[in-house]
Amino acid sequence: MSSVDAHVVVLGAGHAGGTLVALLRQYGFAGPITMVGDEPLAPYQRPPLSKAWLKGEADGDSLALKPLEFYAENQIDFRPNISAVSLKRAEKTVALSDGSTLSYDILVIATGMRPNKLPLPGADLAGVLSLRSAADAEQLKGHLKPGHHIAIIGGGYIGLEVAASARALGAEATVFEREPRILSRSACEVLSTFFTDYHRARGVTFELGAHIERLVGEAGKISGVKMADGRVIPADAVLVGVGGKPNDEIAADAGLDTARGIVVDLEARTSDPSIFAIGDCSHRPMPHYDRMFGPESVPSALEQAKQVAAAITGRPAPTPEVPWNWSDQYDLKLQIAGLPFDADHILVRGDPASGKFAIFHLKGDQVQSVEAVNAPPEYMMGRQLIGNRKPVNLDRLADPSVSMKEVAA
Ligand SMILES: Cc1cc2nc3c(=O)[nH]c(=O)nc-3n(C[C@H](O)[C@H](O)[C@H](O)COP(=O)(O)OP(=O)(O)OC[C@H]3O[C@@H](n4cnc5c(N)ncnc54)[C@H](O)[C@@H]3O)c2cc1C
Repeated sequence: MSSVDAHVVVLGAGHAGGTLVALLRQYGFAGPITMVGDEPLAPYQRPPLSKAWLKGEADGDSLALKPLEFYAENQIDFRPNISAVSLKRAEKTVALSDGSTLSYDILVIATGMRPNKLPLPGADLAGVLSLRSAADAEQLKGHLKPGHHIAIIGGGYIGLEVAASARALGAEATVFEREPRILSRSACEVLSTFFTDYHRARGVTFELGAHIERLVGEAGKISGVKMADGRVIPADAVLVGVGGKPNDEIAADAGLDTARGIVVDLEARTSDPSIFAIGDCSHRPMPHYDRMFGPESVPSALEQAKQVAAAITGRPAPTPEVPWNWSDQYDLKLQIAGLPFDADHILVRGDPASGKFAIFHLKGDQVQSVEAVNAPPEYMMGRQLIGNRKPVNLDRLADPSVSMKEVAA
């Protein structure tokens, strides 16, 4: 069977899966498509769940990638509230939670990831929340109101975005971070310090180098966070934001190669040629850095959806993108291009105190990544410099009076 009339089955109706099915139709694929998702909703965007949606600045409809009718109108058999349970590669079938079995010619695994649980006593108390889905966000929102105190465990981007949203909604927020600084895994010290100060100035409390002993509760409901030094910090709710794990078990159990996600190539194809994996469940090549990585971002999910749609419809693979990402907190827009792999020094352009600056991570005179705060030209041109691997004059880059266009020329 040619891929033109193949049955494409997509597991996971999230950002990657939802984008893929739309792209397949856009690229003229006319064969049957089935998309199975374990949530009640059609594919939607998650980034606003910790930002605009949480603050009440965006409604549920605006989260949807496409209106629900789109799927029926485009002959996409979308099955919500059903999860894929197991995969039999020899038979090319997937077992579903409703007891049925689906046969595929081409399978695309787009099952995303799930938040890590807090490995501490009290983690199962009511009011201990995580944030991945719209349902999670709905629960969290109920706790973000004046007079409530939210404890946020984990000083990563999701935790910080929720802290900013909590303050905007009038709730008190404390961020607990085990490392001596926030964003310790993802950002350099300059950026960590900047965000810590910015949040503190807006009323967020930080417990850095925090050693939490347990979560404590009353009548089964969270009431506080007990620290190893004996203090109990009262909390009406706890948000656990300590990273996540790719949903790759179905693939691993079926014998596909996995390594912190399902291992794929530049077409997003797994070790089985009939099976692709896209989005947060995948572990993918990063051609600009000559290594494998799981970027856990919307742009990465979109790029891989394009790779698969191209492979299925016989188009050339899209040109590899420089990875990028963003975070919105208060009036700050952080835009990140590239990954700081192999960087040997950083260069700060502009003054962090002005709230408008960029941090370039460099290997010699080559930009490996840029973190730009309210600085779109630095982000845009930085991304370009990473893509074309052009060396830069460091003195000019360090001088904000020299435009980024001139730096990149
Ligand atoms: C609160 C929040 C804020 C974020 N902010 C940003 C941001 O600012 N910028 C950015 O680039 N990225 C951000 N992200 C990350 C971004 O949302 C993800 O990278 C993106 O959603 C990945 O798409 P995906 O399709 O791989 O996963 P998802 O969108 O999570 O979709 C996977 C879907 O598969 C379902 N599923 C899982 N297992 C099964 C199964 N066995 N059977 C059927 N269905 C299954 C899941 O329930 C889910 O619906 C954020 C994420 C969150 C949670």
